Amino acid sequence: MDRVILHSDLNNFYASVECVLNPELRDKYVAVCGRREDRHGIVLAKNMKAKKRGVKTGEAIWEAKIKCPELVVVTPQFNEYIKYSKMVRNIYLGYTDKIEAFGMDECWLDVTGSRRLFGDGEKIAEMIRCEVKEKTGLTVSVGVSFNKIFAKLGSDMKKPDAVTVINREDYKEKVWNLPVSELLNVGRASAKKLRDRGIKTIGDLANSKRELVISWLGKNGEMLHNFANGTDVSPVMPYYYTEPAKSVGHGITCVENLKTDREVWKVIFELTQDISHKLRATNVYAGGVAIGIKNSRLSVTEFSGILETPTHNAREIALKAYELFKSNYIWQNEVRAVSVRAVRLTSNRFARQLSLFENNFKAEKIENIENAIEEIRMRYGKKFITYGALMGDLKMPPYKEAEIILPSFRTY
Ligand SMILES: [Mg+2]
Repeated sequence: MDRVILHSDLNNFYASVECVLNPELRDKYVAVCGRREDRHGIVLAKNMKAKKRGVKTGEAIWEAKIKCPELVVVTPQFNEYIKYSKMVRNIYLGYTDKIEAFGMDECWLDVTGSRRLFGDGEKIAEMIRCEVKEKTGLTVSVGVSFNKIFAKLGSDMKKPDAVTVINREDYKEKVWNLPVSELLNVGRASAKKLRDRGIKTIGDLANSKRELVISWLGKNGEMLHNFANGTDVSPVMPYYYTEPAKSVGHGITCVENLKTDREVWKVIFELTQDISHKLRATNVYAGGVAIGIKNSRLSVTEFSGILETPTHNAREIALKAYELFKSNYIWQNEVRAVSVRAVRLTSNRFARQLSLFENNFKAEKIENIENAIEEIRMRYGKKFITYGALMGDLKMPPYKEAEIILPSFRTY
C-alpha cells in the first residue's frame, strides 16, 4: 500500500510573520534584513510583493533598493519566528505524530494512518492549510504524494496558500520535466556533472541507467536515481525521534600554540558551535562535557564533568569545558590541540525545560538566541553568523580543515 506523505512549507516565512505582527506592512514591499548598521546587511526574506519586484534572498540591502526603492526593511525577530514555527507544528501534531522538520518553515508529515479519521491526503492537506491560516494568519503550500521527494516538489508548484497532489498516475507528467537541480540533494556540483552528461531534467535522470548514474555520482547517484523514479522509501521520522549516539565531539590542532586562557576559551567556544549544531540536529542534550588538551610536548590529558542541566547550547557547553580546563590544566606548556566532547547524551527534553523554567528568564533567552543562530546557519551556512568573541585571531585552521571527532562509545 502506498504511503501518503505531505510536505508543508510556510510561504515567505520570516516576512509573513512580520506582516502578521504588524498588519500595516501587508500592502508594502517588505524585506527582513540583517541589521542595517552592519555592513553585511543582507536580505534574509521578502514578502510576495517584494519578490515580484525582483528582490532576492541573500542580496545586499542596497541592491534590493535599486530594484525596489519603496522597500520597507525590517530587522528579524527570531524569537517570534520560533514561536510561530512551534505553533504551526502543534497544528500538524493534531493530524499525525510523524512529523519531520526541514528547517524552521518546512515539515514532512506521514498521514497514512490518519486517513480514516480525516479523509484522504488531499483533504488532510486542505484542512491543514485552512487551520494554519485561521490560527496563525500564515499561509502554507502543501505537496501531497507517495514519497517525501515528490511531496516536497509538490509544495513548490503552487504558492502561496495552495495544495498540489502528485500521484502515481501523473508524476511523470508533473515531475519529470522539471530541471534536475530541483531535486532534493542535487547540489551545484552534482547538477553540473549531470548536465555535462546530457541529464537536464528529473525525467532524464530517472530514465538513465542506474549503474551509469552510480558511476558518475557514487552512492549519492543511487539515491538520486531512486528520488527521480519515485522509489525513495525513506520514512518520515517521528516528531520525538532521537538518534542513538553516545557522545558528540570536535577537536582541532591549532595553527599556532595557544599561550593564554583567553586563546583557549576562543577555541573551545568555536568547537562547541559545531557540537551544538550536531546535538540539535540529532535532538539530544549533553548531560556532561569532556575536554581534551594536547600540550606542546604532545602529551594528552582529558578532563570531564557533569552539567547541572542537560543542554545543547554552545555557550553552556563551552563554559563547562572552560571551567574544566581552568581548574585542571597547569600552564607549564603551551597548548597545541583542543578537543571538546558532549557526553552523557540524553533525549530528555522535559528535564531541560523544567529546570529552564525554574532557573531564570535569561537561560531561555540564550536558548532562543542560539536556536535562531542555528536556524540561520542551516539556511546560509556556518560562516554566515557568529559571535563577536569568535572574530579575529582564532589560531585555528580554516573551518573545512577542522577534524571531526565521531561519536565514541566511551562511557562516563
Ligand atoms: Mg518556506
